[in-house]
Amino acid sequence: MSTHWHLLCLDCQEETGHLNHGADQLLDIWRKKARAIAELVRCGGVDEMIICYGSELDPRFFAEHLDHQVVIRSEYGNMLRDCGQQFKCPTCDTLHDCRRKEGHEGEHSKVRDYDPSEELIPAT
Ligand SMILES: [Zn+2]
Ligand SMILES: [Zn+2]
Ligand SMILES: [Zn+2]
Repeated sequence: MSTHWHLLCLDCQEETGHLNHGADQLLDIWRKKARAIAELVRCGGVDEMIICYGSELDPRFFAEHLDHQVVIRSEYGNMLRDCGQQFKCPTCDTLHDCRRKEGHEGEHSKVRDYDPSEELIPAT
């Protein structure tokens, strides 16, 4: 099954990227290269889409949202470190994706119990 991932700014609700199975690559790009790409944009060095791992990324996203709360989210609304297991909700009796952190103990829940932007601090 394919799953496309995006970089999403929680503050502005804007996103870029469309990488199939590319969550870890996006994490890598954002943490290690976001500051450099933002710098390039600010001094006018990049004005076209950049290609990373075969997918287009808008370099302006890096400049505009560098110090905002950025997360990695899938087309299904899962965040990078969500447990993601489907479970049957005892309250409404339908299937939900678990939003607790991967590897959690105890029951699955649709309430996110961690900060999904905590890992996405760009390197200085
Ligand atoms: Zn933003
Ligand atoms: Zn429910
Ligand atoms: Zn879970």
